[in-house]
Amino acid sequence: MQRIALIGCTGSIGTQTLDVVRAHRDRFHVVSLVCGSDGARLAALGEEFPDAYLATADRFDAARAFGGCDVAVIAAGGFAGLSYTLAAIEAGKRVALANKESLVCGGEIVMREAAKRGVEIVPVDSEHSALFQALSFRRDTPFERLVLTASGGPFLHATEEELARVTAKDALRHPTWRMGAKITVDSATLLNKGYEVIEARWLYGADFSRIGTVVHPESIVHSLVYFADGAAIAQLGYPDMRVPIQLALTYPERLPCAPQLDLAAVGALHFLPLPAERFPCFGLALEAGRAGGTAPAVLNAAGEEAVRAFLAGRIAFPAIAETIRDALERVPLSPAAEYAAVEEADARAREAARNHLYAI
Ligand code: MG
Repeated sequence: MQRIALIGCTGSIGTQTLDVVRAHRDRFHVVSLVCGSDGARLAALGEEFPDAYLATADRFDAARAFGGCDVAVIAAGGFAGLSYTLAAIEAGKRVALANKESLVCGGEIVMREAAKRGVEIVPVDSEHSALFQALSFRRDTPFERLVLTASGGPFLHATEEELARVTAKDALRHPTWRMGAKITVDSATLLNKGYEVIEARWLYGADFSRIGTVVHPESIVHSLVYFADGAAIAQLGYPDMRVPIQLALTYPERLPCAPQLDLAAVGALHFLPLPAERFPCFGLALEAGRAGGTAPAVLNAAGEEAVRAFLAGRIAFPAIAETIRDALERVPLSPAAEYAAVEEADARAREAARNHLYAI
């Protein structure tokens, strides 16, 4: 029986984590449920999981949330997820990490603190779960290269003129994955794929030169690892987040979860180069990742502010990248070895982004 603390229980990953729990009540026990602010949803979940500790973010108590758990599923969205990840590590709990911002913004701190306390960080992101599976669940498996697949999002074939006119509603129509609004827009800009390269860099200790990407519109191949002899091992399956969520909790054991892939029914799988020239957010993410320090935190904070403005219909799609670029140019870079430095960079970048957005 695994005792689970679920942070971010009302979002897309949180909801699917609870689906996994419901499917295997004999294996999983929910000991705490934390959400952002949806008290009504939280109360309803409290009736279903009567002995769970319940809290909204403003009343979060780390000792009570993580005290009785074996694993903390960090599914909170955005920069806020980093403080939960660090609190879980400090409590000495294994982390099933769905919040990629924890590694994008605080990768150095998260990996250092986890190593110091012997805490394992298990990926929930589908690409990183695929890599973990291809590496036989071992971080010390020697590999040549990691390749992340990308669906390409809803605008894969759009021209620059078309991209200038797309709306939030268009961006939220993801072709293969059902996810929250923020990450769906990040998939449309390919910022999400840039985040995932940074995430892979921290999780698997790979230099950026050894992490590649390929567009794969069907989202059946979830990522690949290339080895010294030329062999590549990929993980395949229908796009269904319950699989990586469940595996993060049970690996190396596998339990029934999702329908088995019917390759003949799928018919064809396609692969093409990632069109970085039409999606500048991807290149900005790689630049920030290579620059290191607080640059990825600046990237993320400006991205969060810009996507919020785009979802509200206040700015055009290309202004997301422009806002991020502006913040990266304005906010001074510093080392990101301490949480306070990352938090300050986050605040400064939000201010820079808001100023930029206000002027649009
Ligand atoms: Mg992903």
